[in-house]
Amino acid sequence: MDTDTERTRTTETTAADGTGSTTAERLDGAIDAHVHLMPPKLLRAIRGVLASEAGWSFSHPVERAGIERTLHEAGVTRYLALPYTHRPGMARELNEWVIEAARGSAMRTPFATVHADDEVRAVVREAFEAGARGLKFQCPVQKSGPDDSRLDPAFELAAEYDRPITFHAGTAPTFEASPHVGADAFESFLESYPDVRACAAHLGTYEVEAFFRFAHEYDNAFLDTTMALSARSPEYLGFDPATITDGELDDLSTSIMYGSDVPNLPYAYADERAGILARDLPTATLTDLFGRTAERFLGER
Ligand SMILES: [Zn+2]
Repeated sequence: MDTDTERTRTTETTAADGTGSTTAERLDGAIDAHVHLMPPKLLRAIRGVLASEAGWSFSHPVERAGIERTLHEAGVTRYLALPYTHRPGMARELNEWVIEAARGSAMRTPFATVHADDEVRAVVREAFEAGARGLKFQCPVQKSGPDDSRLDPAFELAAEYDRPITFHAGTAPTFEASPHVGADAFESFLESYPDVRACAAHLGTYEVEAFFRFAHEYDNAFLDTTMALSARSPEYLGFDPATITDGELDDLSTSIMYGSDVPNLPYAYADERAGILARDLPTATLTDLFGRTAERFLGER
């Protein structure tokens, strides 16, 4: 289906905020490529860690209905549901939960995860057979990255089943000392698995230049914008989105997809996309960022 003509940009609200009027726009038919749909208890535990390590606080609901209300109000009609687990022995059950939660839904596209100390091949094969559309690794939290040989069976199955992988591969926001992230590890994956589409979340911050180069050089390299292109990014991620030009986004729009980290986004959902919408980007570029690229990533176009 060609969604070009269906995805329309409409004004949702206009609010005076004392500094002039702001417009939060709605993008009907958008895809959010980075949402964490997990059991609420687990999401709350993850929030506890983010709160203590990054000092963030959260107000988005963690239950599915609340998450989807937030997305729906913004015109998001589909999202990638990304689980991850910091402990071995949890992935199987977590994957089943996500896949089950997505069953029969056009809005939810379930991903799966695995811990490097799990029976990697068995857990991933089961997840793919049950309907997982890709894999997610939160590398610093899971303490294994895109160059971890313990994950090779997962990567080989991703190639066999043609399923993409999203990695938290960058050093932001608090992982500069982690040996499991960084541009080199991601590039080694791109070279080792040229048939597996791999996304670096958060534009690969803080090594954005290197990750943008990968998006230029490797057909299988993707980036998501999560928390990196917002007016709130300097405050929360320690990254200034003004260092990325409109031209760069335009050039790489077929490799970059919008994501939000909802529900673990420490500011309003509208703020996450407003920074992109405020740019002077052609409609075709917005159509890529807010949908077509995610469809490419999933292997649907
Ligand atoms: Zn995330």
